[in-house]
Amino acid sequence: MGKSLTSRKEDYSKWYNELVVKADLAENSAVRGCMTIKPYGFAIWEKMQAELDKRFKETGHENAYFPLFVPKSLFEAEEKNAEGFAKECAVVTHYRLQNDPDKPGKLRVDPEAKLDEELVVRPTSEAVIWNTFKGWIQSYRDLPLKINQWANVVRWEMRTRLFLRTTEFLWQEGHTAHATKKEAIEEAELINSLYADFAENFLAMPVIQGLKSESERFAGAVETYCIEALMQDGKALQAGTSHFLGENFAKAFDVKFTSDQGKQEYVWATSWGVSTRLMGALVMTHSDDNGLVLPPNLAPIQVVIVPIFKNQEQLDLITEKAESIAEALKAKNIRVKYDNRTTHKPGWKFAEYELKGIPLRIAIGPKDLEKGTVELARRDSLSKSFENQEGIENLIDILLKDIQGELYTKAKNFRDSHITQVDTFEDFKDILENKGGFILAHWDGTTETEEKIKEITKATIRCIPMEGHKESGECVLTGNFSSQRVLFAKAY
Ligand code: AMP
Repeated sequence: MGKSLTSRKEDYSKWYNELVVKADLAENSAVRGCMTIKPYGFAIWEKMQAELDKRFKETGHENAYFPLFVPKSLFEAEEKNAEGFAKECAVVTHYRLQNDPDKPGKLRVDPEAKLDEELVVRPTSEAVIWNTFKGWIQSYRDLPLKINQWANVVRWEMRTRLFLRTTEFLWQEGHTAHATKKEAIEEAELINSLYADFAENFLAMPVIQGLKSESERFAGAVETYCIEALMQDGKALQAGTSHFLGENFAKAFDVKFTSDQGKQEYVWATSWGVSTRLMGALVMTHSDDNGLVLPPNLAPIQVVIVPIFKNQEQLDLITEKAESIAEALKAKNIRVKYDNRTTHKPGWKFAEYELKGIPLRIAIGPKDLEKGTVELARRDSLSKSFENQEGIENLIDILLKDIQGELYTKAKNFRDSHITQVDTFEDFKDILENKGGFILAHWDGTTETEEKIKEITKATIRCIPMEGHKESGECVLTGNFSSQRVLFAKAY
């Protein structure tokens, strides 16, 4: 069939790339680091989008759209932000091509069509948005302003990988403006918990919430909150970030409001985003050597029905039954597909749906028609059973919820068994080398120590966890005072 995958054990990274391509999620494009998201991959992304969008709206946010290009002068305005992203910026310098007089049939940039001001292709939209907010905010009555946009951004990444790190990626970016510091911090924290809840209850992916250390903080932020997940190879993945931006952007773009006391004050800001990286997180959290494993909440098709037949007469009889089962499932809002194509053999279909991670498969053959049964196969456990056709929709409804829960529990058990508390640097290196996963260790709070640990071990501080581990101790590297344990890991 040409669809079998390299195993995770053999070569994890190869397994991942093969899976993404063979399960029809995405493929590389003509531009290095940019991907084409295929219909099946996009259908899963749309499920994520729809759920997040609903949650943003429920918490009082509205969608808008801002331009792709950022005039360089605006981009420069918030210095730290500009400096942080400068090395990854694609820049438009010209607006026209013309026939090349020296090379027939070829085009060249028209030297006459040079832009007066260069345009940065947005790597993130704070600059454009705060320049716009300036016109929208005058008084405390205009606040809070809570905007989200679904868009693409470009960061000229050197080492790319489908979904996890691409040059162009799709994301949502929230940008909010508040009258007080307290309110802005509450917003940044609210969104981080929203992301955590979405990851755990929708993607079935356990995450740890925390704060970034200074060196991992978003450029221009006062504080970066994040959710960190653990992939099956023991590497961590930053799955989402929410930033408290203080008054930095308000000052850079001179955005002030008249308070209810009649005073002129700077506006407080947040920004936050999750990207198509979540697709990679999904693959690396649940999938196996047979292909994708999808949590039912995310599966564009939750149940597939495959007929097993030798002739048209059998197919007609099976189709009648299959269609009535499909109707009963649809009535329960279950997403079902009946694959009665005669162009592909049942064995091919089985392999295909396994690779694509469809949570449940029903097979119906002539014997099942006689007995009033179906064969039901679970993608997560690969187990099969024979079940009565009568009332199968009720069983499936329960099983889909069960699978969603099981996937979370399995991922959480794996994650929890890969969090190791260490007290010496020897143990730190040993665990990193031989076990991987998260390491909870004391750190003296300096960037210098963080850098040194990174240099020696390649592990970085993933986050300063929000919950637990608050007891003080001695830094694993320097022995200096540490106020709490932080979470280290090698990361994507
Ligand atoms: P940031 O604006 O840097 O805080 O990133 C916002 C979100 O986008 C985070 O969840 C990042 O993990 C994700 N992200 C950052 N860079 C990339 C990239 N090159 N490809 C895909 N996702 C990314």
